[in-house]
Amino acid sequence: MHLDIEEKEKLEEDEVTDNDGFSKLGLRPEILKSLEKMGYKEPSPIQKETIPLIMEGKDIIGQAETGSGKTAACGIPIVHKVDVENIEIQALILVPTRELAVQYVEELSKISDKTGVRCFAIYGGFSMPVQLAKLRHGVHVLVGTPGRLIDHLYRGTLHLSSIKTFVIDEADEMLDMGFFKDVELLADCIIGEHQTLLFSATMPPPIKALSETYMTNPSHVVLNRSTVSPKSLKHCYIKSEEVDKTDQLIKLIQGANITQAIIFCKSRTRVMSLFEALKKRLKETDFLHGGLDQAIRNKVMEKFRAGKLKYLIATDLAGRGLDFSGISHVINYNVPENPEAYIHRTGRAARQGREGMAISFMSFRETEYLHNIQNRIKVNVNKFGSENSPVPKPSRKPHSSRRKNHYTRPGQFDRKQKRPHHRHPSNET
Ligand code: ADP
Ligand code: MG
Repeated sequence: MHLDIEEKEKLEEDEVTDNDGFSKLGLRPEILKSLEKMGYKEPSPIQKETIPLIMEGKDIIGQAETGSGKTAACGIPIVHKVDVENIEIQALILVPTRELAVQYVEELSKISDKTGVRCFAIYGGFSMPVQLAKLRHGVHVLVGTPGRLIDHLYRGTLHLSSIKTFVIDEADEMLDMGFFKDVELLADCIIGEHQTLLFSATMPPPIKALSETYMTNPSHVVLNRSTVSPKSLKHCYIKSEEVDKTDQLIKLIQGANITQAIIFCKSRTRVMSLFEALKKRLKETDFLHGGLDQAIRNKVMEKFRAGKLKYLIATDLAGRGLDFSGISHVINYNVPENPEAYIHRTGRAARQGREGMAISFMSFRETEYLHNIQNRIKVNVNKFGSENSPVPKPSRKPHSSRRKNHYTRPGQFDRKQKRPHHRHPSNET
């Protein structure tokens, strides 16, 4: 048979679409229906790679850029594997923040709609009696933040002996020193045979090495070797010293075409002072940090998700995992010292191939941070409004102690600094 080029290309296209569909993965029909309802036509690259491996029971380290669909990459096979007749917790998913626990379980609930699989989230700040009742009633897939899960372990209300799949989302953050002891305790309580899955957009080598001690011949699925940041995200900077940042931010906001933006600050205090400075001049502005009551945190998240807020001023609490479809800009009022934090913060924009822009206000002392970030993400961070003027090499001048003190208040710690006590990052951001 002779096919002309156009016909051949069409056939190949059809073949690819067909092979790429969820239906080829051998999933339960109810799940396929749910995915259709959710508008998921075909698996994203990380989903295509990891779903079959997870279904086989393999241990996995899955690394793909922010917004690439890692939740469903893990959630779909977990729901598929649940034995509905067995009313015991069969999968446990650890996440670093309460907001992420809520988001994760919402996605799982959509995937598992009509399957009979019961998914639930346990996190601090949420009614204990409701959690106890739910656990008593029976949960198949449990999402949780480590602190509250451990509370339940001590109370004897959480049993992990039937866990077949143990997931650590945002794994590098969870295995970092802030959460490590809690994660270790929970991992030690899962005594039955199980698979372990780690997911994140970033995985620094020491964390990767550490994580492997928990796993058996893990498969590394790494889809973001060339760039860790989404290709559709533009990065730029505006030179600005601390005292000028608020005025420059207002100027930027008035001129830029922003649909929705998160403005990240390095501390709760800075979030509050920026909110005070902005609230009269910018309508539809609110703030989020870990010191707020959980009910308020939930309300702010809801309003922002629903598009009722345009600007959200936040700490790194909102920097990991949260999925917002309407964000056009991520603004760093303070440049994070840690490149991983930058990747996660800015990854709140440009999700699933959408366009997005990350703008960082860079003071003299932050030049070094942003220069390191530029090297890490392997993409130029250009001067705002200019096509080709990347962050310059920082001058080697040592920082004056006066400048340094300006940033460090009593009781305020740098993320990398050794802390005197075991901490929960979600309580500080
Ligand atoms: P990640 O964890 O990689 O940062 P998420 O799991 O939060 O990304 O997913 C990002 C967005 O992509 C979510 O809004 C999710 O609903 C959507 N999404 C995930 N998988 C698919 C798919 N196969 N098709 C369409 N949209 C998807
Ligand atoms: Mg995620």
